Amino acid sequence: MILRLEGLGRRYGDLAALDDVTLRLEPGERRALIGPNGAGKTTLLNLVAGALRPSAGRIHFHDRDVTRTSPARRARLGIGRTHQHPAVWPTLTAQENVLVAARRPWGRLRPGARERLAAVGLADQAGTRAGSLSHGQRRQLELAMALAGEPTLLLLDEPAAGLAPPEVELLAALLADLPPGVAVLLVEHHLDLVYGFADHVTVLHSGRHVHTGTVAETRRSPEVAAAYAGVTP
Ligand code: ATP
Repeated sequence: MILRLEGLGRRYGDLAALDDVTLRLEPGERRALIGPNGAGKTTLLNLVAGALRPSAGRIHFHDRDVTRTSPARRARLGIGRTHQHPAVWPTLTAQENVLVAARRPWGRLRPGARERLAAVGLADQAGTRAGSLSHGQRRQLELAMALAGEPTLLLLDEPAAGLAPPEVELLAALLADLPPGVAVLLVEHHLDLVYGFADHVTVLHSGRHVHTGTVAETRRSPEVAAAYAGVTP
């Protein structure tokens, strides 16, 4: 098992943004995390990445308790992530962004950086400043940066948000081509993308776990339909 969340919770004052959530991920698993707005999906990703501290529960990564481990250390241990708003250095080129993300000395391993960019469809943009890339290209770049850290777990926060339909198709192809050994936790509202990508789907509603199952089970789950209708299952 690569990731084990036990009774994970996060409160903001009286609000339980995440409440007693237990989740297990196997190596290489493709898991989607869905649920209506405010369900707690980004909160869960931030807790796993270490950007937020839980109010309750434990996080184990590769059988190591990382509940109190810093985000930088978790990244070094193999947790990569992308954000709802791509976090890139706008004045650096795409290639420099990948090199910085890989924490390699300047000038070394350039072929590696170029291969990373090619793998996300940015081969021709290596010398372009990130600030000049389109929104979709910045998302591709952030994916290359996350992969440069050679993660065993990749956290993707709404990668299809703000993309035009052809860009979503490209994203689906990139996700399908991710290294098979990398486990992925994908937060996404675009259900066609989710159902095409995931082998299992977890549904949150109002901070609580309401369902985990295969794509087929999720499609016919009454709990999922109720959660999306805004009704407590
Ligand atoms: P969306 O799909 O809209 O991105 P989400 O499922 O990712 O939603 P979260 O962003 O995790 O949901 O938010 C869960 C709940 O926690 C929401 O009610 C949100 O308003 C609340 N929340 C999130 N961050 C904070 C904060 N810093 N302070 C107070 N409440 C917060």
